[in-house]
Amino acid sequence: PGSPVALDASKLKITLAQTLKPLQPIETLRFGQTFSDHMVVATHDPEKGWSAPELKPYGPITLDPQCSCFQYGGNVFEGMKAYLGPDGKARLFRPDMNMRRLEKSCARLALPPIDGDAVLELIKRLVDVDKRWIPKESGYSLYIRPTVIGTRPGLGLTPSDHAMLYVIASPTGPYFAKPISLLAVSENVRAWPGGTGGHKVASNYSPGFLPQRTAVEKGYDQILWLFGDDRRVTEAGVMNFFVVVKRDDEDGVDLITAPLDGTILPGVTRASCLALASDPEFHQEISMRLHPQEMVYTMSDLAKWSSEGKLLEALAIGTVAIVGPCDRIGYEGKDIVIPGDGLGPILDIQEGRTEWKGWGVVCA
Ligand code: PMP
Repeated sequence: PGSPVALDASKLKITLAQTLKPLQPIETLRFGQTFSDHMVVATHDPEKGWSAPELKPYGPITLDPQCSCFQYGGNVFEGMKAYLGPDGKARLFRPDMNMRRLEKSCARLALPPIDGDAVLELIKRLVDVDKRWIPKESGYSLYIRPTVIGTRPGLGLTPSDHAMLYVIASPTGPYFAKPISLLAVSENVRAWPGGTGGHKVASNYSPGFLPQRTAVEKGYDQILWLFGDDRRVTEAGVMNFFVVVKRDDEDGVDLITAPLDGTILPGVTRASCLALASDPEFHQEISMRLHPQEMVYTMSDLAKWSSEGKLLEALAIGTVAIVGPCDRIGYEGKDIVIPGDGLGPILDIQEGRTEWKGWGVVCA
């Protein structure tokens, strides 16, 4: 079912905050704790379609307790960042990819369809209005959280034909100050074939909180999610996972990650690393040949590569972490120790120091 009125960014109503909040010193920023002055909100109902969106002061929203989102968790979201370039312009990194993913997440939960291009226009306006919230320092940015929740009133187990879109923004800094450790876990699984792991739906995340807490209690930073009796390596925490492995033919290195089989979130950072790794221009830039491999690999493969001295790096990759090197993976009571220290070029593109194939999208 299509919606009668599509989301229309040109109908945006703007109400600016009367007083602006003081900016916080960057060293006191904690991920997702501080929010900018404004937010964008639009609502959908089955008769009228999408309302005219509003950009207004950040604040609470009021919802009926019977709303579908509270009972059945029909919520989707995106995570993206606006970076301030050396030219003083705010840039989003490949935001079209986030918007396509948002559209697909809504479709997977049978939420009303949403036009990602319109959402992107609204995001650009919000970033422009709240630009003073983007810290200038490298590694810092304004994290943007577009969210769509199912607001159908009533407890009936049917798709939510009512919805609310909101976009909030939070200044943020480097997530991991040092290399991280991972605990490989197979008693809990993040995603399974035919499930929702390949979409950014809210209900994928809360089941990970308990195993994550257990991993921290055991002295590890994040979980390495495995799948299946053969202990396939899938993702790390809420990040995609790559390993860099020395090749037998000495022709550069393999950059290995699990394939998008529906159990892996198709990360924007993951796609960008794979694209860079298969680009001869990029090999020239870093004077190294990379061979991207999207393939199934298991904990036994990791252990074998490590024992043969071929495991050069392990990287947790995503918008929040950017490229986070991992120095240790706990598995079956032992630790696999990894030498490397990560890759930097993607941040140069995100922060506008390197112009690369139109990936940095200027907001205003
Ligand atoms: N995997 C999961 C489960 C995630 O939630 C995220 C964050 N969206 C990622 C990977 C990384 O995706 P991206 O590079 O688009 O941030």
